[in-house]
Amino acid sequence: MEEKRVEDRGMRQGMSRRWRRLAVLSVGLAMAAGVAMGAGLAEAQGTPSHGSQAVGGLDYETFGRRLSPAPADPQITAALRQISAERIRKTIATLVNFGTRSTLSSMETDLSKGQGVTAAADWIYGQMEAISQQCGGCLEVRRDTFVQPVSERVARPTTITNVYAILRGTEANGPMYLVTGHYDSRNSSNSDDHGAAPGANDDASGVAVSLECARVLSQASRKGHWPGSLVFVAVAGEEQGLYGSMHLAQLARSQGWNLAGVLNNDIVGGNTTPGETLQRKDRVRVFSEGIPATAGPVQQRRIRALGLQDDAPSRQLARAMAAAAQTYLNGLHGMQRFTVFLVARPDRYLRGGDHMSFNTEGFPAVRVTEWREDFHHQHQNVRMEDGVQYGDLLQFVDFRYVANVARMNAATLATLAAAPAAPGGLKIHAERLENGTTLSWNAPNPLPGGKFHYELVWRLTDAADWQYGKDVPADGAAEGRITVPVSKDNVIFGVRTVDAAGHRSVVTTVEVPAPAGTQTGTKRGWESAS
Ligand SMILES: [Zn+2]
Repeated sequence: MEEKRVEDRGMRQGMSRRWRRLAVLSVGLAMAAGVAMGAGLAEAQGTPSHGSQAVGGLDYETFGRRLSPAPADPQITAALRQISAERIRKTIATLVNFGTRSTLSSMETDLSKGQGVTAAADWIYGQMEAISQQCGGCLEVRRDTFVQPVSERVARPTTITNVYAILRGTEANGPMYLVTGHYDSRNSSNSDDHGAAPGANDDASGVAVSLECARVLSQASRKGHWPGSLVFVAVAGEEQGLYGSMHLAQLARSQGWNLAGVLNNDIVGGNTTPGETLQRKDRVRVFSEGIPATAGPVQQRRIRALGLQDDAPSRQLARAMAAAAQTYLNGLHGMQRFTVFLVARPDRYLRGGDHMSFNTEGFPAVRVTEWREDFHHQHQNVRMEDGVQYGDLLQFVDFRYVANVARMNAATLATLAAAPAAPGGLKIHAERLENGTTLSWNAPNPLPGGKFHYELVWRLTDAADWQYGKDVPADGAAEGRITVPVSKDNVIFGVRTVDAAGHRSVVTTVEVPAPAGTQTGTKRGWESAS
């Protein structure tokens, strides 16, 4: 990683003189184009144009167009329609029937047959294998098993198993996108490895999302010849301190996975407790970091100076999820309307989750969680107390809600796997004071097989999501570049790759490279995994 950064910097330094010449040339061209566009707009509105005088437009509005949702891909729509609330119910009910899925139960020898976390892992593995058989062996189904040494919530060395299945895209070195939930559960005591811990919502619901995505996307990917790869995951050890996901994130790092996004679904059951009047079933929250967990002090200072505190790659992933929901879950494709509610923080107060393990390893990762949680049904022994039912029971899960969450995940995974890789290394050339902006970026790696172009996007600095865009031809060059009359001081810029069918990559924003040797992972700033 460090090596690559140094290389990138070297390339840019070598290019900078040529850049200055190009910048001068393209400022002139772009200004001419901008004026012509303004004049055309004025004529269309019946206003006479007076030479080069602007007609009331703001540069950031008139130079581009308002962004609208990407077109729906019929193959993806068909896949999303295959997602079944009934199958999700069966998955969650089966997981609940393992009695306890406490991570610590893997070391117990006196559990009845079919009880405990190991039996649950075997069942999930079997499900992945069965899905793979349905698509001609398209999944590489794997166990990632390791022994967690004694630690804060692990009293003796404990075997932990993650189950994952890789669906390879057509491009061997293409980006990979991962969807995960944790199959371990807990009750009131984190050290209880025998007592009932149904974990229906936390987090059998997330595991059901992973399995359902695997079922429908393994079929669709083959038909669509998607370049990107997908990884369907169920981890354990979450309640003990994110141990499973940490091990998997480190495995991904050590094996050089080109992991471009991780969707962590944890508590997506749409809690249906009677009397909860503020629950909403038409939306789900997506939490994402705005400053990368791996940003060291120097990088943090640069992020602050440039106002890029809302533009970590994880935040771009969250925005891509909101966009996928707008394209597919807008009520127009025979599926319910369902929206992503973006939350600009890594997780809820006092809580954490598996996405943080991936963030710590430098991968973009977000957390998906229902609108309102019921804390009587999380980390509680199953019991009645003062007329209140405690425990994470099946009866409080809304399977149709989980199906909508699964559709939102699948729409995102399918869009990103079908799209070309994102552009690399976006740079703003701020070499002198000027109102326009010159930007350059590296071509996607790997280079897309088919026709593609770039889309420069921007938004006002206080807007939550991208607002304006302009197409930029790709021309087969090793880098993309454009000079625009929009001031870099007033907006945030990003760029994405778009293929001929309209699949959009995740947005690449301005690179803030860390000087070599300044990388320091941050300590976890939360108290309880969930
Ligand atoms: Zn959880």
